[in-house]
Amino acid sequence: MRFKTAASALALMLAACGGGASENAHQEDSHGQAAEHADAGNHGPTLGPADAHAAATPHAAADASAHWDYADQAGWTHVAGLCATGHEQSPINLSSAAPMAETPDLAPRYLTAAGTFVNNGHTLQFTPENANAMLTIGQDAYAFAQFHFHSPAEHTLDRRAYPLELHFVHRNSAGQLAVVGVFIEEGAENPALAALLTALPVASGDQSATHVEIDMNTLLPTDRAYYSYAGSLTTPPCAEGVRWNVLRTPLQASAAQVAALREALGASSRHVQPLGQRTVLLGS
Ligand SMILES: [Zn+2]
Repeated sequence: MRFKTAASALALMLAACGGGASENAHQEDSHGQAAEHADAGNHGPTLGPADAHAAATPHAAADASAHWDYADQAGWTHVAGLCATGHEQSPINLSSAAPMAETPDLAPRYLTAAGTFVNNGHTLQFTPENANAMLTIGQDAYAFAQFHFHSPAEHTLDRRAYPLELHFVHRNSAGQLAVVGVFIEEGAENPALAALLTALPVASGDQSATHVEIDMNTLLPTDRAYYSYAGSLTTPPCAEGVRWNVLRTPLQASAAQVAALREALGASSRHVQPLGQRTVLLGS
């Protein structure tokens, strides 16, 4: 685990990406088109790693697309070398044959939350106005920071990818991240997704008319069995030290909801990364 070194990078990422949005809801428009990069921390003129930023744009400083995109994941290394050299990267393939283990209780304490829902060019992200939702994992407490989507799912289960994956991002007082991953499959309509879809921000960086209030509890399946492993951010800067908790049971959404989210998101999944020396535990 590299929590100590990763924490500062994660703090930077959060500061730049809206994960710390309770203090600073969104600063996407701080440099024009770069609104689309607000989630990743690979910019943030005052907070991001300036050298990485410059290296990413040696000949196209004015071209926001030079930062990173899902179509050219090999190119992420030019934004953040760790994306290529890290040994504890995410996402990974999960195996339903993972050993059952004693794991701490995963206890989201979510509420109905008001916040903003934005399309930042990489994902659709909800950021609450008040930081009063919590996650506890055993004795460890994390404050909820934001949730966002990926299409298709980033983690695979027995090499199968669900159509969508929801990431609830949390941060503790030391700046360390814990993410709860929730797969989404076609099934019954989901009321919280219905609320989000009515506020769907279509245009990248469009933050107008995207104030929503949703019951986050309805974005969680009731079965809390989860896969636990040490990983990373799945976008540049790919910082490690992220405590991953991927729920085994998918959430259901109607076929129309799945289709609408997938269309709005576009391809937004990082390729599966090597497990390496890590162990994945399945607990409940
Ligand atoms: Zn994510």
